[in-house]
Amino acid sequence: MASQNLRTPGPTPLPPAVREALARDMVNHRGPEFAAVLNDCVEGLKWAYQVSEHDMVILTASGTGGLESLVANTLSPGDKLLVASIGNFGERMGQIARTFEVDVTQLDFQPGNPVDPQRLEDALREDPDIGTVFITHNETSTGVLNPLRDLAAAVRATRPEALLLVDGISSVSSVEIRPEDWDLDVVVAGSQKGWMVPPGLAFVSISPRAWERQSQAKLPRFYFDWRAAQKSAQNGETPWTPAVSLFYALQVGLQLMREEGLQQIFARHQRLAKFTREGLSELDLRLLADPRFASPTVTTAYLPDGISGKGLLRTLDERYGVVLAGGQGNLSGKIFRIGHMGWVTEDDLSAVLSALKLELNSVRATATAGR
Ligand SMILES: *Cc1c(COP(=O)(O)O)cnc(C)c1O
Repeated sequence: MASQNLRTPGPTPLPPAVREALARDMVNHRGPEFAAVLNDCVEGLKWAYQVSEHDMVILTASGTGGLESLVANTLSPGDKLLVASIGNFGERMGQIARTFEVDVTQLDFQPGNPVDPQRLEDALREDPDIGTVFITHNETSTGVLNPLRDLAAAVRATRPEALLLVDGISSVSSVEIRPEDWDLDVVVAGSQKGWMVPPGLAFVSISPRAWERQSQAKLPRFYFDWRAAQKSAQNGETPWTPAVSLFYALQVGLQLMREEGLQQIFARHQRLAKFTREGLSELDLRLLADPRFASPTVTTAYLPDGISGKGLLRTLDERYGVVLAGGQGNLSGKIFRIGHMGWVTEDDLSAVLSALKLELNSVRATATAGR
């Protein structure tokens, strides 16, 4: 049993079989053993992404490296990119693109809300030169799941040939997403979120339209060049030395996912998210996310008046071994976040809610006594 109840929205806990895989000895990363592992991982990822035509590239990098690869492989200096941002991670994508001298138009939405498809369409109509759109599927800083299917349809209705880039880092593996059926050109995921794998690998699904765009894109790229990754993959290799141990872990994590079944995994995340929201509401905590778009993988709530987020999180950790996350950016000190993605059960979340209840009761009792 784990000593901590790690409920941050990444990194997430590792099942014993994954931890055993991480202890395995090295192999030659240019030999047949690694080729078999890599091929198995690519196949498993395609299963989890539910793609058959789109290609899959695995990068040794955290999720942000995957996001940088989107920019570097699909855009040219001065290209216009529409970033629909509903929180910190949408903001980060805008920063990456501006760093690469892409011309970014950023749409911002109130924390807790999803992207409004009408505003997306209006922004595209206003500027006919925007050829690329970026959307975060699940915004981990606010706990909101964008209605991605509808948003993708809105983009296609207005600009059919646009390239649609998606940050699926905290959704793919845990939440339904269909890159081919929904016409999403590139979808990035990260190993430390729902995959039951440590941080350090980024996954990228790539459509034929994205490959075509890539062949004209002029931004500089080396380590994250998709062409190099795709070429090496044909020989069961990666262009640079991969994080071999993480590939072992991924292979086992994917095997565990197959045993549970994709639809079962999605249903479990929906159920546990609902359980968490209901539990927090019973503790009189106000939820941040619009309930119609509440995330299946991370739940966010406002801190009660007069309670310090840092103090609460520290006490939960020290007294109960429950590790939660605070707010990011403007929400720092205002909210806390509970991750429930990957290897997580109702018991884990019951323990979180019990600890919160005890701690809030004690803080509230102290406050009342002091009056
Ligand atoms: C975690 C996360 C990232 C950042 O990934 P790193 O692995 O920390 O680089 C980006 N976007 C979303 C939605 C995330 O949840």
